[in-house]
Amino acid sequence: MTEQTDVVVVGGGQAGLAAGYHLRRLGIEHVILDACAAPGGAWQHTWDSLRLFSPAAYSSLPGRLMPVQEGQPYPGAAHVVDYLADYEKRYELPVRHGVRVAAVHRDATFLRAETDRGDWRARAVISATGTWGRPFLPVVPGRGEFTGRQLHTVQYRSPAEFAGQRVIVVGGGNSGAQIAADLTGHAHVTWVTRRPPRYLADDIDGRALFDAATARRRALDEGRTDTGGVASLGDIVAVPPVRAARDTGLLTAKPMFTRLTATGAQWADGTRSEADAVIWCTGFRPALTHLAGLRLRGTRGHIATDRTRAADEPRLHLLGYGDWTGPASATLIGVGRTAREATRELALLIR
Ligand code: FAD
Repeated sequence: MTEQTDVVVVGGGQAGLAAGYHLRRLGIEHVILDACAAPGGAWQHTWDSLRLFSPAAYSSLPGRLMPVQEGQPYPGAAHVVDYLADYEKRYELPVRHGVRVAAVHRDATFLRAETDRGDWRARAVISATGTWGRPFLPVVPGRGEFTGRQLHTVQYRSPAEFAGQRVIVVGGGNSGAQIAADLTGHAHVTWVTRRPPRYLADDIDGRALFDAATARRRALDEGRTDTGGVASLGDIVAVPPVRAARDTGLLTAKPMFTRLTATGAQWADGTRSEADAVIWCTGFRPALTHLAGLRLRGTRGHIATDRTRAADEPRLHLLGYGDWTGPASATLIGVGRTAREATRELALLIR
């Protein structure tokens, strides 16, 4: 069976919902197809103690402020899931949960989204599938030899399952720091980072990140020198649990090891650490396999875009993913503005 609408939004996380909000305001018929059975996007799969790096009011989608989580200046992931579920309902967004788009095809004057529950024909597609579905693992010598447990950020839930174990946490970003901090006091943690950890100043949070990303975009658009954006401020937001672990001396990083062995890791100077588990907090890539058939140009796993619009397919916009689709567009506070610009452009195209 093939259904038809003006715009198919692929993905019903925060980016897909922000798109839906603006499409609805513009009176554009659309459907949001989301592979997850329940609302909340990636937030429903994160580890239990994850804290946002911004206060609630600065983690809001268009139209509705995120309510404060009682007793928590930086809300947890479950609070974000509740907020997104409420957002979806409040604006009566047409989300079909449990529908995975396998591929998007060109079909005469339409784009066709092929799903596991029938096909959708649309005049345009917004892809908002995030990165959580494509965890990245670096190539490291000996990775296949290690006999302990290896997992990625996406599989980590809580420190309880590592109680008393020797755990190596790899990665100097927010996930690495938060997970290493989460494990301290429960496991014997070795935290390894490619370069010494770069903490943002303690009084800086997601608000400053958004400003930095916006300033960078403006500078690039105006042909001025690259300001460096978020990366110029540091890699790790010192959310309260990270700060506490750091300040008590429990969160110290070692340089990256050169190889894994059957029982642990080995460093360039020959020192070794035995380990029961290695947790790879080594990032993500955009989940774009459903667009492979369109054969769009791109580099390093990205698709070439002019802001959100695919350079080779004007009926396709990409929302979220990272700064390459708009300043801070992979954050709660940033995606609203990018979604507004993308949907306005689509309105001009399809009207
Ligand atoms: P997702 O939330 O991943 O949603 C994508 C949706 O698309 C999912 O529901 C998925 O099931 C669906 N989907 C995927 N493929 C298909 C398909 N082929 N067909 C149909 N549906 C599909 N941001 C902040 O603003 N504040 C923070 O504090 C913050 N902390 C973060 C901490 C971590 C550890 C990570 C990884 C990210 C953090 N971010 C934070 C960044 C960002 O807000 C999240 O990554 C966010 O989940 C991105 O939203 P999204 O809608 O783009 O993608």
